[in-house]
Amino acid sequence: MSVGFIGLGVMGHSMAKHLIKAGYHLNVYNRTRSKAESLIAEGAKWMDTPQELAFESDYVLTIVGYPEDVEKVYLGQSGLFEGSKPGQVFVDLTTSRPSLAIELAKQGKERGVIVLDAPVSGGDLGAREGRLTAMIGGEAIGLESVRPILDCFASNIFYHGSAGAGQHAKAANQIMIAGTMTGMTETLRYAKASGLDLNKVIDTLSGGAANNWSLSNYGPRILKEDYSPGFFVKHFIKDLGIALEAAQEYKIDLPGTKLALELYQELADAGLEDAGTQALIKLWW
Ligand code: NAP
Repeated sequence: MSVGFIGLGVMGHSMAKHLIKAGYHLNVYNRTRSKAESLIAEGAKWMDTPQELAFESDYVLTIVGYPEDVEKVYLGQSGLFEGSKPGQVFVDLTTSRPSLAIELAKQGKERGVIVLDAPVSGGDLGAREGRLTAMIGGEAIGLESVRPILDCFASNIFYHGSAGAGQHAKAANQIMIAGTMTGMTETLRYAKASGLDLNKVIDTLSGGAANNWSLSNYGPRILKEDYSPGFFVKHFIKDLGIALEAAQEYKIDLPGTKLALELYQELADAGLEDAGTQALIKLWW
């Protein structure tokens, strides 16, 4: 069975590697070809366009950067839909707009293709270790056929409902992360100001009610002054924008999320949009 994989960045490269390890015949495409070289050396086959990749693959997985990238890959010239065949399942793992997921599922249906939205959480580490959480929206029957492929890099798979529901679950996830990242950096800022041992503070808080993923994964990176991505500041700004835009449709105000977006925008304006999200501390340190 052949699987096509598009988007070989921080997340996609590790995920594609798991698929090769699991024995799938992998067809790959990425905007920058050099990022595919090590996978090609391990047996993946390079495809010149998403269209060719769709034509040559039974299943297609995508994880690119922004909704605009998703549109280009699926709907653009020489895009996936131009090479699609009825019966295929396409899975978009990008964190993208729920409305775009609905549109892709609709256009897929017209071609006999099931398109699932399946954004993930768990970070660069989760991708490397093959233990991501995937949040699925779309036709459930599509999920059942693609589940063994997702199992190669996701240890938790949650089905949330019709197209777009996976993206809504991810938006909810990012609203929580807005709180844990601002909370974690403010915690370190306060602990430092009060003269505490920061490693000890992280260990202490990790054992109690304040424990959270941002603290245990990004706290130690901050103490090592490692601001590499991880998860790009620019992508978090995209995600918070998606969440706030969707919230507006429901006429609900999310003041904490808004504030987090303002802080991250300030960070990007200071030239740190390509840093990891833990660089938020640099607003103060
Ligand atoms: P990334 O390193 O920037 O990877 C995105 C990849 O997509 C890049 O290799 C990029 O190509 C490729 N791409 C973009 N547009 C393309 C196109 N039109 N055709 C082909 N390839 C294209 O970002 P990432 O960290 O892996 O994140 C990917 C997605 O997952 C984002 O939506 C992000 O929000 C989400 N996410 C990230 C994390 C995390 O911790 N990193 C966790 C959960 C979810 P180039 O090589 O040319 O740039």
